Amino acid sequence: KGGNGMSRQVKEYLEHVYQVVQKRDPEQHEFIEAVTDLLQTIGPVLERHPEYIKTNLLGRLVEPERVIQFRVPWVDDAGHYQVNRGFRVQFNSAIGPYKGGLRFHPSVNLSIVKFLGFEQILKNALTGLPIGGGKGGSDFDSKEKSDNEVMHFCQSFMTELSRYIGPASDVPAGDIGVGSREIGYLYGQYKRLRGAERGGLTGKSTSYGGSLVRIEVTGFGLAYYTNEILKTLDTTFKGKRVVLSGAGNVAIYTMQKVVELGGKVLACSDSSGYIIDRNGIDYKLVQQIKEVERGRIKEYAARVATAVYHSGSVWKAELGYDIALPCATQNEIDGEKAQLLAVNGVKIVAEGANMPSTAEAISVYRKQGIIYGPGKAANAGGVAVSVLEMSQNSTQASWSFEEVDRQLQNIMHNVFEKSVMTAKKYGLDNDLLAGTNIAGFIRVADAMMAQGLV
Ligand code: GLU
Repeated sequence: KGGNGMSRQVKEYLEHVYQVVQKRDPEQHEFIEAVTDLLQTIGPVLERHPEYIKTNLLGRLVEPERVIQFRVPWVDDAGHYQVNRGFRVQFNSAIGPYKGGLRFHPSVNLSIVKFLGFEQILKNALTGLPIGGGKGGSDFDSKEKSDNEVMHFCQSFMTELSRYIGPASDVPAGDIGVGSREIGYLYGQYKRLRGAERGGLTGKSTSYGGSLVRIEVTGFGLAYYTNEILKTLDTTFKGKRVVLSGAGNVAIYTMQKVVELGGKVLACSDSSGYIIDRNGIDYKLVQQIKEVERGRIKEYAARVATAVYHSGSVWKAELGYDIALPCATQNEIDGEKAQLLAVNGVKIVAEGANMPSTAEAISVYRKQGIIYGPGKAANAGGVAVSVLEMSQNSTQASWSFEEVDRQLQNIMHNVFEKSVMTAKKYGLDNDLLAGTNIAGFIRVADAMMAQGLV
């Protein structure tokens, strides 16, 4: 796996760590994928830091500090007793308290939560903020559930989770399936059990301690990050054609900011299919359909004359465009779909979702000269503003929209710069993935080394 110009010692160590992970949890495909992604890029760091090998730093990094799994019993509207599985992986606290979202989706299992937690360690480190990495969630499916059912589920989930979290130890937030509504119910229950510690959960509404811009922020941050890439090409979003996947919180506010910056969004999707609107997608209508009515994206085409709906993956659409922003879920773009992106004329892929491109897709980007901004960097705005929310909570402050937005732009600029500079420093010019992985990794590694055998 890679390894050109690497010493034998480094190659053998990377292979050893890979084998350990593979042997320990062979069924955890997504987690193994996330670890492999890191192992393939940090050889040059190990060459310069033999002490990381000597202290088996990677062997320690790939093993979560703690994994919590619990039963979530709840009663549905028909009176049936239901049981879901809950998780919290407290992956790495070298830099600060565990921080990372909760995902509610039927696909959630330990492999998914571990891959997300692992990515979160590096992403959080890259922001330069004092937070470690964690992630949690449940296989609960909120589709077709009533508000009442969602509330009872959230209350039961938090009844158990509340024992393990807190502002100074572990601070959850949202992710897929956990938006404002769920955070509200989770926080309500957390407060009954733990008191009004606002810093115990982020992504709250502004009416009870949330930060302005937190809801919009992952999408805004993705657009700002993509804008940084465009700047290096001496261009802007003006006139660029953009295709997105997803129609959730990340996708909606990415569309808003892309349009504000002068781009045109041709298509977006949900898990059933996608819509193309040659006049440009009206993100407000998508928001109305998905977030207010909790409907399907198909309904957009029924209401807008210039739009058409197709079932299947948006990445199979054949239409010329410049920028692809995957904002749906892991592994949504495989090698074949990546080839199609190249055929469609895509020059930039930047990820709003976590790990939406498979390893094969990334190697296609490389071969085709497509600039690739990995999710760990491109979607880091979400967690960064979570930390701004924690700061406001601990000082009883509430900053203006402009203030938070200004800080977000700064953070995204710094995240981008750091990846570019790090790649340069290691002779890997233009490799944003390697720059991102190495910059995040070094910060965690430094903190772990300083703390002895942890
Ligand atoms: N779930 C988001 C992410 O993937 C946000 C996490 C947070 O705000 O803690 O980074």
